Amino acid sequence: MFLTISTTGTAQNPATDLGFLLHKHPDNRHTRNVSYGTAHVFFPEAATGRCTAALLLEVDPVALVRRGKGKGKGRGGAPDAALAQYVNDRPYAASSLLAVALSAVFSSAMRGVCEARPERAARPLPLRVEVPALPASGGAGVVRALFEPLGWTVTVTPVPLDVRFPHWGDSRYVQLVLEVPDGKLTLGEALRHLYVLLPVLDDAKHYWVSPDEVDKLLRAGDGWLAHHPEQELITSRYLARRRSLTREAKERLELVRLADADDTDVEELDNAVDEETDTDTAPVPLALRRREAILAALTAAGAARVLDLGCGQGQLVQALLQDARFTEIVGLDVSMRALTVASRRLDLARMGERRAERVTLLQGSLAYTDKRLKGYDAAVLSEVIEHLDVERLPALEYAVFGSARPRTVLVTTPNVEYNVRWESLPAGHVRHGDHRFEWTRAQFRAWAREVAERHAYGVEFAPVGDDDPEVGPPTQMAVFTRTDRKEVRAA
Ligand code: SAH
Repeated sequence: MFLTISTTGTAQNPATDLGFLLHKHPDNRHTRNVSYGTAHVFFPEAATGRCTAALLLEVDPVALVRRGKGKGKGRGGAPDAALAQYVNDRPYAASSLLAVALSAVFSSAMRGVCEARPERAARPLPLRVEVPALPASGGAGVVRALFEPLGWTVTVTPVPLDVRFPHWGDSRYVQLVLEVPDGKLTLGEALRHLYVLLPVLDDAKHYWVSPDEVDKLLRAGDGWLAHHPEQELITSRYLARRRSLTREAKERLELVRLADADDTDVEELDNAVDEETDTDTAPVPLALRRREAILAALTAAGAARVLDLGCGQGQLVQALLQDARFTEIVGLDVSMRALTVASRRLDLARMGERRAERVTLLQGSLAYTDKRLKGYDAAVLSEVIEHLDVERLPALEYAVFGSARPRTVLVTTPNVEYNVRWESLPAGHVRHGDHRFEWTRAQFRAWAREVAERHAYGVEFAPVGDDDPEVGPPTQMAVFTRTDRKEVRAA
């Protein structure tokens, strides 16, 4: 198993700095035992203009079988399956083993640490990575989809099954060349890309995937994975398709993504400006009218135990607390940052005990079913659905209407038709940077009616804010009420 990393340089920035960055002197050969064999690092070329480090991993297939999960599997299996434990591509093809070796021999470099040249480690450099035999599950397209969004120029050359018989076609291996010009990636970033993506391409992890694998993935994915368009494929394959781990990784990456998009929260709070009200010039801010409409609908439904799903910074939770009719209030949000602001706003620590007992803040994602949300009278989704990708709405729908199933569900969302009335909103713009979509009244109603139909709810609609004769109200609200038999009997 083999991989080379090259860089180019000048008299001021000699390419041989690569040796410092990798903590390996270019004149020496470095050998180290790793769990499945021996890793060698050497420098086939080391000059001011160009320097290449090579990582060669000699795999011990027997050690692999002894320690790996192959051990129990072969017993009692077909004889050729037993043989396959010893005769396989592991020694030759780049894979998760190479990734593990990479992290063992270049651990400081991967973390971006370089004692001898600290400033050099933080600076991007031109790079070329070559992997002569890479199992590319999914083919060249997947290789490109994984590396190109990270800034790499990708050259994939299929490796024929047998050079003597070209008509046999290609093997599942490719020769991979990755290149990035100066100014884009640091060596640490590049190594972290390889550490995650080589096993993803191999798609056959050699070791048991343990729960701390998620930590490793997120550490190596820091700064790029949360925003990678193929994030789902990467996490699912990296974690060997273990559902619970993939789900955990997804949720934690969602937090990262939201935190990144969330940078203005605290400042906004200090200025006492409600989210999404800055384009609102009406005397009563729209956010306040929305809360009033929600409180009125909850009261009309006779709800006492209420979920505020996607509670954000806790304004509605606070308003609910001020009304003794609401005996139990749960605010849930995926963003830890929003919850921190919410708990500061509510001043939970100094709140009287009886009041504090009425409120709980939970971190969780509406894209997954959650047992903690079962058994409430009502759930509010105030300006939340538009923050999820449309493809994830069915998951939210199931979590709320299929699993939590409160008697009443209130959903508010912007009415995109009204956007022409916002003076400060340029044509065609959504109201908030993180909105994934904004719907017309017809679109929202069609969605809501289908949801109601699928989950045995009735639905009615109400405007929030001034109901413009032409374009409708700025905010639209749907009030869902459960109609299934069990509920009718209980009522
Ligand atoms: N309900 C509040 C906040 C709306 S902003 C209000 O009306 O003012 C949307 C909120 O939804 C954000 O706080 C965001 O963190 C949260 N959110 C987005 N996706 C989510 C998900 N999948 N699960 C839970 N909350 C989510």
